[in-house]
Amino acid sequence: MFESLQERLGSILNGLTGRGALSEADVAAALREVRRALLEADVALDVVRSFTDKVRERAVGAAVLKSIKPGQMVVKIVHDELVAMLGEEGVPIDLNAPAPVVIMMVGLQGSGKTTTSAKIARRLTDRQGKKVLMASLDTRRPAAQEQLRQLGEQVKVATLPVVAGQSPVDIARRAVHAAKLGGHDVLILDTAGRTHIDEPLMVEMAEIKAASNPHEILLVADSLTGQDAVNLARNFDERVGITGLVLTRMDGDGRGGAALSMRAVTGKPIKLIGTGEKMDALEEFYPKRIADRILG
Ligand code: GDP
Repeated sequence: MFESLQERLGSILNGLTGRGALSEADVAAALREVRRALLEADVALDVVRSFTDKVRERAVGAAVLKSIKPGQMVVKIVHDELVAMLGEEGVPIDLNAPAPVVIMMVGLQGSGKTTTSAKIARRLTDRQGKKVLMASLDTRRPAAQEQLRQLGEQVKVATLPVVAGQSPVDIARRAVHAAKLGGHDVLILDTAGRTHIDEPLMVEMAEIKAASNPHEILLVADSLTGQDAVNLARNFDERVGITGLVLTRMDGDGRGGAALSMRAVTGKPIKLIGTGEKMDALEEFYPKRIADRILG
């Protein structure tokens, strides 16, 4: 679908080696290709700018200009900088707090919050032997609570029984209480989303946070959302304060630019990625793989 950046940079720069050192104009031409490739991969414009500045700094004056294959050198610099910007790999969910450790899942409607809640619950139960309770705080869509209950059954994790008429904050308090009484190690709160960010959503998230004192607040974001991902991450981080990101639909054909944008804007680690609808389709995050994907 996309011509790879490696090929494009190769054809721009490698043909020039015969005549000695590359000029700054050659580097500028290469950076224009880098910029185009990143925009095609759906990286946000301001993130692209700061990124190409970094690459320019390293490329100009470096051994690149005199190297035999400057195209490959530039690709390597771009790759290394992408990996650096994407952050550490395999940052686990932090359970280092008194039980029940509360994990609050936030994000837009349809981003994969409920599915990811159940995937995480399954992983903590199966791999770490934790006793987990899940609660749906989505009172706007009656089907949401039922969806979590069914997923809970599927992954053999308890869900908080539904009580009609309670507000999300009431449910959060009841869930914390139930998790304490039940001796659960972890409580996962699946909050309600909206189709877009709005004030009532942010107020609700802040209230739930205050009522449940979460140790982790994970923003679940659809990796295919591209540019919108930046606003989403910025807003949630500024208003609610997130501790990490989970990117879903990494099995789709997005180029991974959203990952770079969200990480760059929040500085928060990408903790996990969703790679399918099944309950075991949750993986550790490897920056190198995303960098390769962005480069094409
Ligand atoms: P919520 O509204 O944020 O709770 O989103 P849901 O958890 O209900 O997910 C919406 C849809 O996306 C469901 O059909 C999920 O099966 C699907 N989904 C969630 N995560 C992934 C993923 O990583 N890959 C794919 N292909 N589908 C996913």
